[in-house]
Amino acid sequence: MNVVLFGPPGAGKGTQAKELSSYYDIPHISTGDILRANVKQGTELGKKAEHYMNRGELVPDEVLIGIIKNRLAEPDCKKGYLLDGYPRTIPQAEALDGILEEIGMPLDVVLNIDVPDEELVGRLSGRYMCECGESYHVRFNPPQNEGVCDSCGGQLYQREDDREEVIRQRLESYKNKTQPLIDYYANKNLVVHINGEKDINSVFDDIRVVLDKYLN
Ligand code: ADP
Ligand code: ADP
Ligand code: ZN
Repeated sequence: MNVVLFGPPGAGKGTQAKELSSYYDIPHISTGDILRANVKQGTELGKKAEHYMNRGELVPDEVLIGIIKNRLAEPDCKKGYLLDGYPRTIPQAEALDGILEEIGMPLDVVLNIDVPDEELVGRLSGRYMCECGESYHVRFNPPQNEGVCDSCGGQLYQREDDREEVIRQRLESYKNKTQPLIDYYANKNLVVHINGEKDINSVFDDIRVVLDKYLN
């Protein structure tokens, strides 16, 4: 199945994608994770992206389009893909249409995870991450031992951009540049809305009801 997980920062895209990826055995492609890995390794790409990421601004489209084109060309994507955090602008969505046509893997569905703004700030400011890609929340999804990842034992950390001022800027970029994509995909009849305010397991169950239709 070929899926875009859509929604504002903090909606729960990463949390759900991680579970869905192992449940359906298809790759989870997070452009945020790819960018952070590049920043950490100090690659040319990482150096270009870091400045934007630290401010909560979007990294330029041409950088993201290059990343996604390369990633979708990898053999594991023959099984399908779960895109998380891409596309975030109209030009990114248009480029994606072209790439998907070339590889013959058109989108099945765009899941729009709805969560109100008031809730998002609390989710992001309480988020703790692990290098392995797992994420936690101090109240909503705490690890068994404080500061330690349940799945790999790694040490948890807070993301540099999960600070209140940067969160505000990310929500602003989402409103101005990313939200218009809902209409873009609604015009193609691809959007299904998911109530992201429910607890993590209920959201997972609701998403499965939708995605089971695309199993072949
Ligand atoms: P979140 O999951 O909290 O929304 P991400 O991990 O997806 O955040 O993204 C972190 C940062 O990486 C963004 O604030 C942005 O700077 C950059 N980024 C990730 N994906 C994209 C994209 N598709 N276009 C532009 N910038 C992106
Ligand atoms: P995104 O990838 O959309 O930015 P995440 O999946 O990283 O969002 O989730 C943001 C924060 O909210 C994390 O701390 C996560 O543990 C928590 N979270 C995710 N889904 C829910 C939910 N349904 N209810 C409460 N907290 C949630
Ligand atoms: Zn871990």
